[in-house]
Amino acid sequence: METDRAGRVRIQPDLTVPGHPEIFVAGDTAALNQDGKPLAGVAQVAMQQGRYAGRLIHRRVTDKSEPRPFRYVDKGMMAVVGQGYAVLQSGTVHIKGAPAWLAWRRCTFCFWVRRASGSIPAAPYTRAGPNDPAVTIALTL
Ligand SMILES: Cc1cc2nc3c(=O)[nH]c(=O)nc-3n(C[C@H](O)[C@H](O)[C@H](O)COP(=O)(O)OP(=O)(O)OC[C@H]3O[C@@H](n4cnc5c(N)ncnc54)[C@H](O)[C@@H]3O)c2cc1C
Repeated sequence: METDRAGRVRIQPDLTVPGHPEIFVAGDTAALNQDGKPLAGVAQVAMQQGRYAGRLIHRRVTDKSEPRPFRYVDKGMMAVVGQGYAVLQSGTVHIKGAPAWLAWRRCTFCFWVRRASGSIPAAPYTRAGPNDPAVTIALTL
């Protein structure tokens, strides 16, 4: 398998290894360019790629048509930088302070509810508590 300088496996837009349609690589171990730039090693990318791979495999085994190539959708970022203070960026929206912190609390709560219900897997960075400083979460909701 061909890898980039960081040792990540170069994959095709359907997340498979060239010449191996049965091998999928997603997340931090995958190297995929979008619009000429490599996708970042963040949870949003890993989660969207995981969902895509699952959907594609399901469609293959049920003899349905292949989905369009994977395309990462950047929903934005949030970071808590203190008690009651956060920054939020999503598209052209930039919010900071208490409103961003309230939005972060709401997203975190929804994320945990979904995780507890089993609809999304646990992610390592979500082990931090809601009041830990410098916790960034991806807008995956
Ligand atoms: C300290 C830190 C903070 C981060 N903060 C953020 C953040 O705020 N926001 C954000 O979006 N991203 C963040 N990231 C990045 C994010 O965690 C990763 O991009 C994301 O977890 C990648 O998901 P993954 O499934 O590819 O890999 P991982 O989440 O690393 O999952 C890989 C899994 O494979 C298991 N594994 C490894 N080797 C084997 C093996 N041989 N056999 C079986 N299992 C194995 C590992 O135990 C692990 O459970 C952070 C990363 C770190 C390290």
